[in-house]
Amino acid sequence: MRKIALEEHFSTPELENRGLVARPTRNDAIFTEIERRLRDFGESRLAAMDAAGINMSVLSLTTPGIQGEKDMATAIRLAKDVNDLLAREVQKRPQRYGGFAAVPTQDPAAAANELERAIKQLGFKGVLVNGQTNGRYLDDERFLPFWERVQELDVPLYLHPGDLPDSPAMYAGRPELEGPVWAWTADTGAHALRLIFSGLFKRLPRLKVIVGHMGETLPFLLWRIDNRFELQLGRPLAPEERPSFFFRRNFVITTSGVCDPDPLVESLAALGDDNVLFSVDYPYQDSRQAGDFLDNAPVSEAVRAKIASGNARRVLKL
Ligand code: MN
Repeated sequence: MRKIALEEHFSTPELENRGLVARPTRNDAIFTEIERRLRDFGESRLAAMDAAGINMSVLSLTTPGIQGEKDMATAIRLAKDVNDLLAREVQKRPQRYGGFAAVPTQDPAAAANELERAIKQLGFKGVLVNGQTNGRYLDDERFLPFWERVQELDVPLYLHPGDLPDSPAMYAGRPELEGPVWAWTADTGAHALRLIFSGLFKRLPRLKVIVGHMGETLPFLLWRIDNRFELQLGRPLAPEERPSFFFRRNFVITTSGVCDPDPLVESLAALGDDNVLFSVDYPYQDSRQAGDFLDNAPVSEAVRAKIASGNARRVLKL
């Protein structure tokens, strides 16, 4: 089945030189190959897409990307350069590639302006942010003008894992838990919940946030989060006050990096057929494996088509 994929990453030599490309493996040969694939917009990327039946990949800068840059002026310049580079690559193959903007969240006003430029002038489909920036998560009050611009432009924000702001005691002495094994999942899940509990979606009800990795565990925890929040407040919650209400209304998830049918079926049950979208997480995940996973998943053909491309067409307005 033909697919659209939307957690598909690239990098640039400058970002690599600045140490803004995460290293999820201890194996040098694997990492060298990941770096090569991240830089390539041609043959190897297109071959991987073809192997998975992907018509279009919406490309985004890899993690931590701009969010990992400490200097504000540098972040603003880097984001502009990266978006211009991506726009040139998309222009070469407009049938195969789309773009998510990188934004300098070090300066929320500059991030809003760069997003507007990327959407209106470069034709990008949305924005992807790699976790916290200088210890601040996107529920911080200072990001409200940025979020207002996201809603005004009517584009989705992909909330992707990034570096942790510090090294919490719960991971001390256990480096196995770092990165995508666990720490990124917990951090990104918490980031999504911070947005919900901040009241952001009451203020800006039309926002759409995309969470990868089969929802970073949240689809499986909605009942418990609602139920224990009621206990915390000591009163019943109306349906539209529940955290799950906002997760179902303001979020969609992607299958990126999870090729396991049971979590897919459970996510569809928790969120509905319209809220689960295919992705690979190229080049960190095997494209063919991800494509085969969806092609053989135990869902109806109508639901498979929605996951493969129908929902992405709606969310990205393709
Ligand atoms: Mn990713």
